Amino acid sequence: MEKNLKGSYANIIVDISHEKVDRPFQYRIPDSFAGQIQPGMKVQIPFGRSNKLIDGYVMELTDKPEYPVEKLKSIQAVAEGGISIEGSQIRLAAWLKRTYGSTMIAAMKTVLPVKQKVKAAEKKSLRLKVEKEEAKKLLLEYEQKHQRAKARLMNELLEYEQLPYSLVTSKLGVTGKTISGLVEKQIVEMQVESTWRNPVKLAETNQKWEKKILTKEQQAVVDAFAEDYKEKREIRYLLHGITGSGKTEVYMEIIEQVLRDGKEVIVLIPEIALTYQTLTRFYNRFGEQVSVVNSKLSAGEKYDQFLRAKKGEVRIMIGPRTALFTPFQNLGLIVMDEEHEGSYKSDTTPRFHARETAEEIVRNCQGALVLGSATPSLEAYYRAGKGSYRLFTLKNRLEGAYLPTVYTVDLREELKQGNRSIFSSRLKEAIQDRLQKKQQVMLFLNRRGYAGFISCRACGYVVKCPHCDVSLTHHFGSGRGRNGKLVCHYCGYEREEVTLCPECGSKYILGFKAGTEQIEQRLREEFPTARVLRMDGDTTRKKDDYEKILSAFSNEEADILVGTQMIVKGHDFKKVTLVGILAADLSLSANDYRAAERTFQLLTQAAGRAGRDKLPGEVVIQTYQPDHYSIVHAANQDYEAFYREEIAFREIAGYPPAAHMLGIFIQSREQKAAWELGEFLAGACKEAFRKKKVLIIGPAKATIEKVNDTYRYVIYGKHKEYGQLIEVKDFMEELLESKKEQTKQVSVTFDFDPMNGF
Ligand code: ADP
Ligand code: ZN
Ligand code: ZN
Repeated sequence: MEKNLKGSYANIIVDISHEKVDRPFQYRIPDSFAGQIQPGMKVQIPFGRSNKLIDGYVMELTDKPEYPVEKLKSIQAVAEGGISIEGSQIRLAAWLKRTYGSTMIAAMKTVLPVKQKVKAAEKKSLRLKVEKEEAKKLLLEYEQKHQRAKARLMNELLEYEQLPYSLVTSKLGVTGKTISGLVEKQIVEMQVESTWRNPVKLAETNQKWEKKILTKEQQAVVDAFAEDYKEKREIRYLLHGITGSGKTEVYMEIIEQVLRDGKEVIVLIPEIALTYQTLTRFYNRFGEQVSVVNSKLSAGEKYDQFLRAKKGEVRIMIGPRTALFTPFQNLGLIVMDEEHEGSYKSDTTPRFHARETAEEIVRNCQGALVLGSATPSLEAYYRAGKGSYRLFTLKNRLEGAYLPTVYTVDLREELKQGNRSIFSSRLKEAIQDRLQKKQQVMLFLNRRGYAGFISCRACGYVVKCPHCDVSLTHHFGSGRGRNGKLVCHYCGYEREEVTLCPECGSKYILGFKAGTEQIEQRLREEFPTARVLRMDGDTTRKKDDYEKILSAFSNEEADILVGTQMIVKGHDFKKVTLVGILAADLSLSANDYRAAERTFQLLTQAAGRAGRDKLPGEVVIQTYQPDHYSIVHAANQDYEAFYREEIAFREIAGYPPAAHMLGIFIQSREQKAAWELGEFLAGACKEAFRKKKVLIIGPAKATIEKVNDTYRYVIYGKHKEYGQLIEVKDFMEELLESKKEQTKQVSVTFDFDPMNGF
């Protein structure tokens, strides 16, 4: 890392027109500026044949000249006034490149939104055309006629003077047809604007937000923040509180303080949790200073939003991980809700994690960072334990909502008693009971890791790698027969398929196959009168499907919602009093070291869906491994106990956060070239890093060795120190550079502390 700062040459870009990040030019750093120049600084350089002096930004420093040294020109001057926004974005890009491995161009593109000369898209918005009194009467009428979508829209239009059409159709679940009906009847008016001003405008007379009296637990966080903020102490908080314990309310109080100080705020919320309810809470409180980015915005729209932030028209930016790169002039705070979410890790190069990147950003601007979760990531809790974060716990739910009662059902016992159905007898009875009471049911199928792993139906035994403590993955043989193999994708260990359970001798040892579709089918057979909705990858292909299904369920258009992990987030359903988890341990057998953590998170969150209102909730967890610690502790809603066992495992096995891991993914259409490069890289690294005790594992086949005719191999590096792994990455990059010609058809990507296997 230090090395980079001592370079004698600087790669400089002269134009961040955003059209495309142009190629950098290399300049020499004269002795008079030695040690002063950093990535992100604005400098003056002689350019072109005339050597006209122009401005440029330093992207990176290096010791290696790319051209004969005598041909390089020198930097002439360093601009006064420190690092500008552009500069700090470039500095962040340089950090991303170094920390996660990527090209500078890819890092720049991550950080700077692309300006596109597209015609401004038309923005449609809705407002009332009738008087308020009339609207209220209509609202009553719609409610009486059970025209729920219309009622919902009317309700919101009484609240907000103006609502974007897209928000209404996507997040509020009102169809275009319903809207045009209302427009025809002259009840609602549609406006078309050519520029995007404000996504939402509050109705001036009807502000809903009123200050809440904070609970003691909430107040403690807010007071600590006020104190630390005043004293200019470093603020890194982790807020651990179950859903409904009032975290969002705390964020908003803290945000208020920071705004009052003249600073700006970024609020990260995973896309799936960016619901209408959440967004309008922020709009209600902070009005027009709030803006939102999400992945559905076009590049141009995103650029617009960022430009508004830069100009100071927006002071709170809400969005998923890309919102991190909002170019605020005076950023004071980053809030990261649901900090444990996997979507905070980028799945394209540079594979940055929003949590670490947020830390880097607040380090640079001396801002505060507040993380929140009901089930903190091991990373965050570990850092809290080490004192890097200050931990606050919110233990109680507000508004008289109770924690649900949880039952665990042992599926092995069910089988013994002759019940081969997907539903245990307890779950079946509970469903019947809710149908009778006209309450709602959510059934959740944990489908992570569903594809490959093999388990015994009689005893729950899962076939695992003897070296890695992860389950083996089924690889189909190349021939037509059943000559498949079981493979460990961490170390490459292979064994024959099993036909009899090594533990109990049962022949019911096979891959798990009940999908959501089969469950829906079964439900229709068992409960013919029940109205069933299904939500999974198949039923949510189109952009708005997700919200549509959720709002249909929320409107009580169905009794039972069946789905994959998608259903555990987002909306509150007040009538849901039973949550069934059909096969809790499917994610336990996923072939990666985060399996137990994921299972715990999913179960805790799924359980949290029951009993969100005054009605008491019940949860039935069906499992083959009722004694597994992730299931036991999820059933008891005991995060601490889970954390203690899980961190012990990570310490012993050397997995993050106790140690760090670097995944090196090698892909090519040329199988031989990819494998040989893997062997070469792994060999060279083993040799070079033996003394430093970096463990290099592999190369091995990826979980799926061939995708779209591309062969995939993987090497893992493991070490206590992240910095050591950065050195491994740098070393590999140099090797690749030196073998550029031979490795043209092979792509190599780096993934630090990977969230998913490869
Ligand atoms: P979380 O973000 O932890 O899920 P929220 O902040 O959304 O929790 O709070 C859950 C519910 O309780 C919301 O409806 C919120 O308006 C309400 N609430 C939060 N804090 C208070 C309070 N101090 N007094 C009354 N209601 C509150
Ligand atoms: Zn068995
Ligand atoms: Zn292994």
